[in-house]
Amino acid sequence: VGGHAKPQDGPMKPAGVDRIIAVGSGKGGVGKSTVASNLAVALARAGRKVGLLDADIYGPSIPRMMGVSGKPASPDGKTIMPLHAHGVTLMSLGLMVEERKAVIWRGPMLMGALQQMLGQVAWGELDVLIVDLPPGTGDIQLTLSTKAQLTGAIVVSTPQDVALLDARKAIDMFETLKTPVLGLIENMSSFVCPHCGKETEIFGHGGVRSEAEAMGVPLLGLLPIDLDTRLAGDKGEPVAAGDGPMAQAYGRIAAGLVA
Ligand code: ADP
Repeated sequence: VGGHAKPQDGPMKPAGVDRIIAVGSGKGGVGKSTVASNLAVALARAGRKVGLLDADIYGPSIPRMMGVSGKPASPDGKTIMPLHAHGVTLMSLGLMVEERKAVIWRGPMLMGALQQMLGQVAWGELDVLIVDLPPGTGDIQLTLSTKAQLTGAIVVSTPQDVALLDARKAIDMFETLKTPVLGLIENMSSFVCPHCGKETEIFGHGGVRSEAEAMGVPLLGLLPIDLDTRLAGDKGEPVAAGDGPMAQAYGRIAAGLVA
């Protein structure tokens, strides 16, 4: 993957894929990959045929979060076979490069890799392909928005001012590129102490709701800071695959998305 593959013009949407929903964020570390993987699992549990493409090329965390590893097979040296976990068909650049190696690529190589992951992966028939974008407003976002016929984008943010400021830029980028913004998700909303039950708003309160209102985009959900979410992600068993309150929360967001 990558190497000298040349990006081509033209639509990059895989033939059997009905809709592509990108999950982006202004900043890193706000839980974008966590939300992308859990939404994919929740959609699969709701009976949809779901794919998950990890396009967060500099910090691909989907393989770990979904509990997969190993190089994807390519029987004919061209088609790349995706992996399957928790009912989701998935592919990550993280599976194609060495885990401990940094990805130091120029734009065209990145675009080539993106092209390969969309065009050469045997995605099959999918109702929805969730794409975990890198944070920010760079080349990958630009290319996907203009070439992959995105159905829409979801932006994840914490309620913290610095995160919101960048989330606003991400929304602005999608709007400029004519990619419909499906809504905002507030992650790390608040923390409920498991010992005393007291709720603490570690990153502030209400920021994403007021931002969504100000920008005229829907607020798709508010997700708390939750130990199970973090542990589940590290274990490769997304919290949405379980039966706790977070699985229900993701189920509700997923239901709203494909209603
Ligand atoms: P991003 O994709 O935005 O860089 P990640 O999804 O990788 O962020 O999340 C960063 C870290 O925060 C991960 O360790 C993840 O498990 C953790 N995390 C994300 N969302 C939550 C949450 N709601 N509660 C607790 N931990 C979370």
